[in-house]
Amino acid sequence: MSASFVAHPHSTEASRVAQSLGVNPQQGLSDAEITARVEQYGANIIQTAHSRSAWRLLLNQFASLIIALLGFAALVSWLTGDRVESAAILVVLVVNALVGFATEWQANRALDALRRQAKTIARVRRNGHESEVDAGDLVPGDIVILNPGDRVPADARIVEAINLRTEESALTGESTTVEKSVEPVATDALLAERTSMLYLGTSIAAGRTVAVITATGTNTELGKIGKLVAASPEETTPLKRKLEELGRRLVYLVLAIGAIVMVAGWLRGNDFWLMVEVGISLAVAAVPEGLPAVTTLVLAIGMLRMAREHALVRRLHAVETLGSTTVICTDKTGTLTENRMTVREYRLADGRVIKLEEQPVSLPASLNDQLLLRAVRAGVLCNEASLNTDESGERRAIGDPTETALLTVAEKLEMNVTQERSSYPKLAEHPFDSATRRMITLHQTPNGNKLALLKGAPSTVLAACSRFAASALEPQPLDDETRKRFLSANESMATEALRVLALAEKQIAKDGAEVLEEGYTFLGFVGMIDPPRHQVAESIALARAAGIRVVMLTGDQVSTAHAIARELRLNGDGEIHVLHARDLEDTDHAQLAGLAQKAHVFARVSPEDKLRIVEALQQAGEIVAVTGDGVNDAPALKRADIGVAMGLRGTETAKEAAAVVLTDDNFATILRAVEGGRTIYSNIVKFVQMLLSENLAEVFVIFTAILIGWPLPLLPLQILWVNLVTDVFPALALALEQSEPDVMQRGPRSPKESLLSRSFLGLVLWQGALLGAITLASYYWALNTYGDGKHAHTIALFSLVGVQVGHLFNCRSRTRSAFAGLLHAPFIWMAVATVVVLQFFAVYLAPLARVLGTVELTKDDLVVVAISILLPIVLVELVKLGARLARK
Ligand code: ADP
Ligand code: MG
Repeated sequence: MSASFVAHPHSTEASRVAQSLGVNPQQGLSDAEITARVEQYGANIIQTAHSRSAWRLLLNQFASLIIALLGFAALVSWLTGDRVESAAILVVLVVNALVGFATEWQANRALDALRRQAKTIARVRRNGHESEVDAGDLVPGDIVILNPGDRVPADARIVEAINLRTEESALTGESTTVEKSVEPVATDALLAERTSMLYLGTSIAAGRTVAVITATGTNTELGKIGKLVAASPEETTPLKRKLEELGRRLVYLVLAIGAIVMVAGWLRGNDFWLMVEVGISLAVAAVPEGLPAVTTLVLAIGMLRMAREHALVRRLHAVETLGSTTVICTDKTGTLTENRMTVREYRLADGRVIKLEEQPVSLPASLNDQLLLRAVRAGVLCNEASLNTDESGERRAIGDPTETALLTVAEKLEMNVTQERSSYPKLAEHPFDSATRRMITLHQTPNGNKLALLKGAPSTVLAACSRFAASALEPQPLDDETRKRFLSANESMATEALRVLALAEKQIAKDGAEVLEEGYTFLGFVGMIDPPRHQVAESIALARAAGIRVVMLTGDQVSTAHAIARELRLNGDGEIHVLHARDLEDTDHAQLAGLAQKAHVFARVSPEDKLRIVEALQQAGEIVAVTGDGVNDAPALKRADIGVAMGLRGTETAKEAAAVVLTDDNFATILRAVEGGRTIYSNIVKFVQMLLSENLAEVFVIFTAILIGWPLPLLPLQILWVNLVTDVFPALALALEQSEPDVMQRGPRSPKESLLSRSFLGLVLWQGALLGAITLASYYWALNTYGDGKHAHTIALFSLVGVQVGHLFNCRSRTRSAFAGLLHAPFIWMAVATVVVLQFFAVYLAPLARVLGTVELTKDDLVVVAISILLPIVLVELVKLGARLARK
C-alpha cells in the first residue's frame, strides 16, 4: 500500500477519498485501525530544526579570540622551552572550550525542551465520537474537525466545509486567504489551486470544516519539500546584544591594557617572553567571553522554571520584557473567570423567569412548555460544541464553554441532544465571531420547512428581531418599548454578573428566501454564571503592588464586566471606571491613550478595538502585555510588547502570534511570569556585576604592581587558573538564585534604563578597586614576609580567589545584606564549595602544585586568606547599611 491511499485526492470526490482510506466520515477510524496505521505510517511529525550537531557546536568554541590568544601563549612558552607550561596552557584552552560547549549545549537542550512543550491538539472523530488528540498521533484516514484559528495538522481532503477560508502563506507564499470547498478540482491543479485540500503548515482563517487526513508527517506536501515548520531563526535579546557589544568593546580595552602591561613589565626588567604571556593571560582573564553563552543558558533555565509554573515563554526576549511590563490588558472570560459556564436561568420572551437551581424544573413537563423547548433547542442546534461519553462513562463536552453549557443544560432538562440534532439537520452556518457577536444556523425541519436560528449578544440579537414570542403560539411585533423592556431585563441579569445570550428563531417556508440577517422572532435570554477564578483577586492585588495596572478588555457587556471587576477588586478599594467600545469611536490615538490610562474595564471591545487600545497605550510609553485566544486576536498579540495566548482555550494562530502561552489559561500565571522575568533579569545583572568587578580586580592587581615596580604578583598560568576557578560556577550560582522577596514590590524596570548605567559602572569600578586593593595588600605582606618567589605568588593567588569568594556573597543583592536568605541559596554554597576544593587541589595535589608553582600554606597565610574572604563582605555590608539608612 502506498503512503497515500488515493493518487489524487484533490480531484477525487470526497466520499471516494474517504472510502479508499477505509473510513466513514461520520464514524471515524476505530482504535484497532488507528493502532495498525500508527505502525504503518509512524507519527505525524516532521523533524524540525535538526538540533545543531554536537561536533559543530564544539568546533565553534575554538573559533574565538580567547582560544587564539591562548594558542599563541602556548606557542610562546613552547618556543621559550617551557614544555610543561605550554601543555598546561593547552589544557586551559581545552577546558575553556569545553565549558563554553557545555553551556551552549545545555542552553540548546533547554530551548528544545521548551519547544517540545508547545504541541498542537487536534479535534478528531474516532470510534463514532469526537475527542481531542495530540496532532502527532494523527494517521491517514483520521477525520478532523477544524475551526477558525486552528492549524491544519496534516494534509487532508475536505469532506464538509462551511464558509471555509484558509491562510496558506507558509506553504504557497500567498498572503490573502483562500476560499476552500468540498468540490474536486482538476487533476493537474497546482498546490495553491487545490481548493478541496487542506495542507499542513496552513491554518483556518474562517469557517468550519470536517476533513479526512490523506497524508501525515514527511508524506505531507510540507514534509516533502523538507521545509521546517515554524523554525524560528537564532534568537537574540536586547540584553544579549548589549552584552555582546560590551564584550566587543572590552576586548579592545583589554588588549590595550595587556599590551601596556607587557611593555611596562619588560621595561621594568622582567623577561620579555614572560611579559608576553602575562599580557595574554591578563587579556584572557579580563574578557568576559562567557557572558552571552551564560546569559542564554540562564534565560533558558529560567524559561524552563516558568514553564513548570504554566507560563510557556516562546520568545527568548520576552523574559526580559516581562520584567518591564507596566500594563496587563486581560480578557475576562476564562482568564479572570473559570470559563466553566453554567446556565442559571432562562428569561423567556413571554415574561417568565425560569431559575434552574431554585425550581428544579421537572422536565418532561417543561419540554411540553413550547417556548422553553424552542429556546433550549435553539441553544442546542445553533451550537458548534459536541457532547459524548468518554471511556470512563463520563459525559464530556468539547467546544466553547459558552456553548457546552447550553448542551449540558439541555441534557439536564432531559432533551436528547443527538436526536434533536438529527431531526434538524444543519444546512448552513455563520459561526460565532467576536466581531459580530452572534452565530446563525439554518436547519431542515421535520415537516420539510426551514428554521433559521440566531444566538448572540442581547443587543445584536434584538436588533435582528422584528417580533417576539409573546406566547407560545402567536408572535407579536416587537415595538421599541418592548425592546427596551427586554434590554432592561438583560441589564438586570448582567448586574448579577451573569453572562447573557439572546436566542431567536425564524421559520422559512420550503422555497422561501434564505435571508438570515433579519426578521427573527425573539425567544428569550439565557443567563450563565462563570465564577471568578481562584487566586485572581490576589494576583490583581499583587500586580498593583508591583506597579502594574490591570485593564480588563472584554466582549461582554458593561454590567457583567463591571460586576466581575468589582468582585475582583480590579481597582482595589477605588471606583471602577468602565468604558464601552462605543466611547472609543471617533477618538484619536492621544485621546484614546488618555482614556486607556484611566479606565479599568473596556466592555464590548472587538479585536480591532483591542489592537487600537494596545497601540494607544504603547504610544503613551507603557509596556503592554495583552492576552488573547481567537484568530482575530493575532494582530494585537503580535503588536503588544508581550502577547499572551491561552494554551487551553486559545487557537493555534493566537498561540503562534504570542510570546508567552499560559498552559493553564490563568491570570495568576501572568504575574508569576512577570516575577520570573524580573528575577532572571536582575540575576543576570548580578552576575555581570560580579564578573566585571572581579575581572577588573585582576587587571588592577597586575597593572598596579607593575606600575609601582613590585615583582610580578601572579604568573601567567596562575592568572588563567583564577579565571577558570572563579568565573563559571559562581556566575551560574547567582543566575539560579531565588527571587528577592521584594521583586514584586518594586515598580517595573524602565526599558530605557541601560544595563551599563553610570551607577552600575560606578559600582563595578569601586568594588573592583576594593578587591584589587585587598589582594595587593596581602601580596605586599607576603613580599615582606617571604620575599619575592613562589610563596608570595601563592599568597597573591589565594588572596585573589579569596576576595572573589567573598564578593560572590556581596553580589547576591545590591541593597540587601549578603546574608539574607543565605540558608535557601544552595547553589551559592555549591559554588563556594567547588571553588574551595579546587583551590585546595592547587596546593595539595602535587602535580598541579608543581605546574602552578604553589607552596603549602602556613597558619598565618590562612589568616590572610580568611581576611581576604571576609573583608570585602564587611566593607560592602557597611556601604549597603549606610545606603539603607540614608534612604530612610
Ligand atoms: P468575552 O470572551 O470577552 O466574554 P466574547 O467576544 O467571547 O467576549 O463574547 C461577547 C458576547 O458574545 C458575549 O457576551 C455573548 O453575549 C456573545 N457570545 C459569546 N459566545 C457566543 C457564542 N458561542 N455564540 C453566540 N454568542 C456568543
Ligand atoms: Mg470569548
